[in-house]
Amino acid sequence: MRLVRSRWQSHDPVRDQVFLRQHPLRWKKLSIDIRIGLRKKRDEIADIRAAIAERAKVPFMPPVEIFDVAWVPPDLSRCISGKAGVVVVDGRTHFGVQLAGAPVLFAEVDALRGLLLHEFAHCFWNLQVSLASTERGERDWTCMLPRRSCSTRQSTERRW
Ligand SMILES: [Zn+2]
Repeated sequence: MRLVRSRWQSHDPVRDQVFLRQHPLRWKKLSIDIRIGLRKKRDEIADIRAAIAERAKVPFMPPVEIFDVAWVPPDLSRCISGKAGVVVVDGRTHFGVQLAGAPVLFAEVDALRGLLLHEFAHCFWNLQVSLASTERGERDWTCMLPRRSCSTRQSTERRW
Protein backbone atom coordinates (compact mmCIF):
# COMPACT_ATOMS: atom_id res chain seq x y z
CA MET A 1 0.00 0.00 0.00
CA ARG A 2 1.34 3.39 -0.97
CA LEU A 3 0.69 6.16 1.52
CA VAL A 4 1.35 9.05 -0.80
CA ARG A 5 0.64 8.69 -4.47
CA SER A 6 1.86 11.17 -7.00
CA ARG A 7 0.03 11.90 -10.19
CA TRP A 8 2.81 10.17 -12.08
CA GLN A 9 1.92 6.89 -10.40
CA SER A 10 -1.78 7.43 -10.43
CA HIS A 11 -4.33 5.42 -12.33
CA ASP A 12 -7.24 7.04 -10.52
CA PRO A 13 -6.70 10.77 -10.02
CA VAL A 14 -9.86 11.20 -7.95
CA ARG A 15 -8.91 8.51 -5.41
CA ASP A 16 -5.24 9.45 -5.39
CA GLN A 17 -5.72 13.02 -4.21
CA VAL A 18 -5.99 11.93 -0.57
CA PHE A 19 -2.71 12.07 1.30
CA LEU A 20 -1.64 10.78 4.70
CA ARG A 21 0.93 13.29 5.92
CA GLN A 22 3.37 11.59 8.24
CA HIS A 23 5.66 13.72 10.33
CA PRO A 24 9.07 11.97 10.14
CA LEU A 25 9.58 11.88 13.90
CA ARG A 26 6.02 11.77 15.19
CA TRP A 27 4.86 8.97 12.90
CA LYS A 28 7.47 6.51 14.22
CA LYS A 29 6.28 7.07 17.78
CA LEU A 30 2.70 6.11 17.01
CA SER A 31 1.62 2.57 17.79
CA ILE A 32 1.39 0.16 14.90
CA ASP A 33 -2.38 -0.05 15.43
CA ILE A 34 -2.76 3.71 14.98
CA ARG A 35 -0.54 3.71 11.89
CA ILE A 36 -2.49 0.86 10.31
CA GLY A 37 -5.75 2.53 11.30
CA LEU A 38 -4.77 5.81 9.68
CA ARG A 39 -3.73 4.04 6.47
CA LYS A 40 -7.12 2.32 6.34
CA LYS A 41 -8.88 5.63 6.96
CA ARG A 42 -6.92 7.24 4.12
CA ASP A 43 -8.26 4.59 1.77
CA GLU A 44 -11.77 4.92 3.24
CA ILE A 45 -11.69 8.69 2.79
CA ALA A 46 -10.44 8.25 -0.78
CA ASP A 47 -13.43 5.98 -1.47
CA ILE A 48 -15.88 8.45 0.10
CA ARG A 49 -14.35 11.35 -1.83
CA ALA A 50 -14.57 9.39 -5.09
CA ALA A 51 -18.23 8.55 -4.38
CA ILE A 52 -19.02 12.22 -3.71
CA ALA A 53 -17.29 13.20 -6.98
CA GLU A 54 -19.21 10.59 -8.94
CA ARG A 55 -22.60 11.62 -7.53
CA ALA A 56 -21.76 15.29 -8.06
CA LYS A 57 -20.83 14.51 -11.68
CA VAL A 58 -17.62 16.49 -11.45
CA PRO A 59 -14.16 15.37 -12.58
CA PHE A 60 -12.37 17.18 -9.78
CA MET A 61 -12.75 17.51 -6.03
CA PRO A 62 -10.47 19.38 -3.65
CA PRO A 63 -7.52 17.32 -2.45
CA VAL A 64 -7.49 16.01 1.11
CA GLU A 65 -4.60 15.62 3.50
CA ILE A 66 -4.73 13.81 6.82
CA PHE A 67 -2.20 14.73 9.48
CA ASP A 68 -0.95 12.39 12.21
CA VAL A 69 -2.08 14.80 14.94
CA ALA A 70 -4.97 15.85 17.12
CA TRP A 71 -6.03 19.51 17.00
CA VAL A 72 -7.58 21.23 19.99
CA PRO A 73 -8.35 24.89 20.69
CA PRO A 74 -6.36 26.68 23.42
CA ASP A 75 -9.10 26.01 25.99
CA LEU A 76 -9.01 22.27 25.21
CA SER A 77 -12.79 22.31 24.97
CA ARG A 78 -13.12 20.00 21.99
CA CYS A 79 -11.34 18.08 19.31
CA ILE A 80 -11.19 19.75 15.89
CA SER A 81 -11.75 17.36 13.00
CA GLY A 82 -10.71 19.41 10.03
CA LYS A 83 -10.55 22.65 8.12
CA ALA A 84 -10.41 24.02 4.64
CA GLY A 85 -6.92 25.19 3.78
CA VAL A 86 -4.20 25.19 1.20
CA VAL A 87 -2.98 21.78 0.10
CA VAL A 88 0.14 21.42 -2.01
CA VAL A 89 0.09 18.64 -4.59
CA ASP A 90 3.07 18.16 -6.90
CA GLY A 91 4.31 21.64 -6.03
CA ARG A 92 1.03 23.34 -6.89
CA THR A 93 -1.29 24.89 -4.32
CA HIS A 94 -4.97 24.01 -4.19
CA PHE A 95 -7.91 24.87 -2.01
CA GLY A 96 -8.24 21.64 -0.12
CA VAL A 97 -9.24 19.88 3.05
CA GLN A 98 -6.98 19.21 6.01
CA LEU A 99 -8.04 16.63 8.56
CA ALA A 100 -6.66 15.73 11.98
CA GLY A 101 -5.92 12.04 12.25
CA ALA A 102 -7.15 11.51 15.81
CA PRO A 103 -10.87 12.21 15.25
CA VAL A 104 -10.73 10.70 11.76
CA LEU A 105 -9.45 7.45 13.23
CA PHE A 106 -12.63 6.96 15.23
CA ALA A 107 -15.19 8.42 12.81
CA GLU A 108 -17.78 6.23 11.10
CA VAL A 109 -18.40 6.45 7.36
CA ASP A 110 -21.40 8.78 7.66
CA ALA A 111 -19.50 11.16 9.91
CA LEU A 112 -16.54 11.20 7.53
CA ARG A 113 -18.84 11.86 4.57
CA GLY A 114 -20.49 14.73 6.44
CA LEU A 115 -17.12 16.15 7.44
CA LEU A 116 -15.82 16.00 3.85
CA LEU A 117 -18.97 17.62 2.44
CA HIS A 118 -18.73 20.39 5.02
CA GLU A 119 -15.08 21.11 4.25
CA PHE A 120 -15.57 20.80 0.47
CA ALA A 121 -18.25 23.46 0.77
CA HIS A 122 -15.69 25.72 2.47
CA CYS A 123 -13.25 25.04 -0.39
CA PHE A 124 -15.77 26.02 -3.05
CA TRP A 125 -16.75 29.11 -1.07
CA ASN A 126 -13.05 30.07 -0.74
CA LEU A 127 -12.62 29.59 -4.48
CA GLN A 128 -15.64 31.75 -5.22
CA VAL A 129 -14.38 34.51 -2.92
CA SER A 130 -10.90 34.39 -4.42
CA LEU A 131 -12.27 34.63 -7.96
CA ALA A 132 -14.49 37.55 -7.01
CA SER A 133 -11.55 39.29 -5.32
CA THR A 134 -9.37 38.72 -8.38
CA GLU A 135 -12.06 40.15 -10.67
CA ARG A 136 -12.15 43.28 -8.49
CA GLY A 137 -8.37 43.54 -8.79
CA GLU A 138 -7.86 42.86 -5.10
CA ARG A 139 -5.00 40.84 -3.78
CA ASP A 140 -6.04 40.76 -0.14
CA TRP A 141 -7.77 37.48 0.49
CA THR A 142 -7.97 37.84 4.27
CA CYS A 143 -11.74 37.75 3.87
CA MET A 144 -11.26 34.01 3.27
CA LEU A 145 -9.70 33.31 6.63
CA PRO A 146 -11.92 31.15 8.82
CA ARG A 147 -14.00 33.06 11.35
CA ARG A 148 -16.23 30.37 12.77
CA SER A 149 -15.70 27.59 15.25
CA CYS A 150 -14.41 25.19 12.64
CA SER A 151 -11.30 27.33 12.37
CA THR A 152 -8.07 25.82 13.58
CA ARG A 153 -6.02 28.99 13.24
CA GLN A 154 -5.64 29.19 17.00
CA SER A 155 -5.64 25.52 17.65
CA THR A 156 -2.78 23.58 19.08
CA GLU A 157 -1.34 20.39 17.75
CA ARG A 158 -1.25 17.63 20.28
CA ARG A 159 0.60 14.39 20.33
CA TRP A 160 -1.40 11.31 21.08
ZN1 LIG B 1 -16.52 24.67 8.84
